Amino acid sequence: MSRFLLPRLTSLAPYEPGEQPLDRRYVKLNTNENPFPPSPKVLEALCPEAILRLNRYPDPAKRALRAALARAYGVEPENVFVGNGSDEVLGFAFMAYADEGRGVTYPAVSYGFYKVYAQLFRARANAVPLNADLTIPVGRFLRQGQMVALANPNAPTGLALPLDALEAIIRENADSVVLIDEAYIDFGGESCLPLLRRYDNLLIVRTFSKSRSLAGGRLGFALASRGIIEDLTRVCNSFHPYSVNALTLAAGVAAVEDEAYLRSCVEAVCAQREQSKRELRALGFAVTDSATNFLFAAPPRMSGEAYYRALKERGVLVRHFRSDELSAYVRITVGAPEEMRRLLQETRAILGQPQEELQTKEASS
Ligand SMILES: *Cc1c(COP(=O)(O)O)cnc(C)c1O
Repeated sequence: MSRFLLPRLTSLAPYEPGEQPLDRRYVKLNTNENPFPPSPKVLEALCPEAILRLNRYPDPAKRALRAALARAYGVEPENVFVGNGSDEVLGFAFMAYADEGRGVTYPAVSYGFYKVYAQLFRARANAVPLNADLTIPVGRFLRQGQMVALANPNAPTGLALPLDALEAIIRENADSVVLIDEAYIDFGGESCLPLLRRYDNLLIVRTFSKSRSLAGGRLGFALASRGIIEDLTRVCNSFHPYSVNALTLAAGVAAVEDEAYLRSCVEAVCAQREQSKRELRALGFAVTDSATNFLFAAPPRMSGEAYYRALKERGVLVRHFRSDELSAYVRITVGAPEEMRRLLQETRAILGQPQEELQTKEASS
């Protein structure tokens, strides 16, 4: 830090991205990416002609992608906002709706950026602890008189709220924006999309990073009433009107239009999730019923951190948590079948359990 930094920023704790070590090749199950590549249609969209047009600025209104998203989700383009990753969309929402006066309410255990943005944008924060069973205490999110931000399904617990609970939160905060972060909704849980017509305070945020395999493209979007989309656009155009680059916009249109590919990736990830959940439970892990593309799991007889370290030594990366309430757990991204086989094999070795015969045979053949 230099001596010039504003005092209020010296105490800010920035978001910590999952580690990306370069010392060896790891099986990377720590940042909830999709194990499958983007749709083949994305490859076609990123053609030499698209690259040759990079001398021009991208469309600041992002019209083609907003139209494609509007078609896909049955809304009008005026109900769609596009940003540089959903992190940017979340940032614009915090800038638009939370400050020292009107703060923000979010679960104490949730996506780490809510806390970071609250600090960065000087918003008074009400961080509500989870119930003992890791679910969100719905009653403590009603009548807040300030913005509410929730991830549904929640991270890192993987648990989703039923739609009637979400609707109660939206209805009982009619004079504040309720932001529902649906980063994982394609993998499970019920989307708030059907509520959009009835509630002008509902702001749904989604990402291309998980289900659409475009984490490296940096693309996110919001679905909301016209007024909210106008607010986000106002903030965006006061900060970075060309926030999404032309190649990513083209990739986004191609990805949205390939519904079949999205479905096949999501089905494969969900099937793998259920299989890995059963296998980990059989080894004595406590595993939540995740509605996402990751598993939230506590190993038997060791802390989350000890298990994380043992796995890392063996070339598998997962994410662990330092806070007391989560120290028993790790978050494991659902990877490709061979990656999950490797996770299980290393886990058996760490726990001192015999390898399954089938796998020993496979390995020796
Ligand atoms: C991954 C994630 C995001 C960020 O997604 P980007 O679009 O890559 O910025 C936002 N919210 C939650 C809950 C996430 O897990």
